[in-house]
Amino acid sequence: MTNGSFHLGTYAGIPLKLHWTFSLTFLLVLIIGLVNKDTFLEISIIFGFIIVMFFCVVLHEYGHALMARRFKVKTIDIILSPIGGLARLERLPSKPIQEFYIAIAGPSVNALLAGLIAIILFAASKPIIIDMGIPVSEANSWEGYLSLVLILNLGLFVFNLIPAFPMDGGRILRSLLSIKIGKMRSTIIAAYIGYFFAAAFIIYSFISHNYILSAIGLFVIIMARGELSSAKHEHFLQHNDVNLTGLKNEHLFTSTSKMYEVISIYHDDKDKYFLVQKEDGSYGAITEKTIKKVIKAQQFNDDILDHIEELALGITVERTLQQALTIMEQNKSPYLVFHGEERPYLVEKVKIFRFMHGRRS
Ligand code: ZN
Repeated sequence: MTNGSFHLGTYAGIPLKLHWTFSLTFLLVLIIGLVNKDTFLEISIIFGFIIVMFFCVVLHEYGHALMARRFKVKTIDIILSPIGGLARLERLPSKPIQEFYIAIAGPSVNALLAGLIAIILFAASKPIIIDMGIPVSEANSWEGYLSLVLILNLGLFVFNLIPAFPMDGGRILRSLLSIKIGKMRSTIIAAYIGYFFAAAFIIYSFISHNYILSAIGLFVIIMARGELSSAKHEHFLQHNDVNLTGLKNEHLFTSTSKMYEVISIYHDDKDKYFLVQKEDGSYGAITEKTIKKVIKAQQFNDDILDHIEELALGITVERTLQQALTIMEQNKSPYLVFHGEERPYLVEKVKIFRFMHGRRS
């Protein structure tokens, strides 16, 4: 169990995880079933249907993940929660058309499943029973059950094509617009269309007293805002010719330095991470975490070498803020060391963020 998720196994090289809140779905069904005095069989059928439903969601997510793999984009994992599945991609693909294919691959899987079930029913000369009024627990024939799974997949297909973030439809819309008018402007348009749908969801939820739609509406607004802000970041970094040199930490300690020297600069300056050149010419770092520990233990007279750490990411050749930020985010590193003109320099992630926000506002 990591980050509140159970590891269900690794399929096609991608870890499949179940978020703990998923168990709440079963608990809720059980409570409703007991209140309604449903039979054990009825409750089991609903449990079975939930499992089938999430199996369809898993296949949908694998659709995204395997398409992403075609464009050499790795999937970190697939997480299932009561509100749906999420294939966490390592990065966004570089070309809009690739984003389009990855986004449309998920709903296509559901369309395919629905088509497959229709063919099976057709081959067995059974009718497709489309009656939303039938409760799952009363689907007492296999064709009735398959019909429900078919409707479910059609529902997943349509719902995911709603053109609003975080639904796949939002990404499909953005990627198609991006081909013509660039990512920034298409993200703005896609986000506003998302706001429109969110408002429609919320208004309709009050008319129909179906308040889950309000929750979805709020979720859409939050996701649209997130997409807008990350597109603005990216746009800023691409259109401002700034590099790491302007944000580097100047201090360089040597192997003979003492910890109190580092601490005095730590207090006076805004720097939190420091570069140390060892005797053999290689480099190491003193991190803020170490500094705090040394202050707490009052080990001011310690040699710097007693507390030096390996450079988290080695020394990179990346020079643009965007490349540096991407590397730090991917590796969850708070700093990065890059090759400067005469020697390597250290740059902190928070400084890059602060710089971007300062310049944009
Ligand atoms: Zn999807």
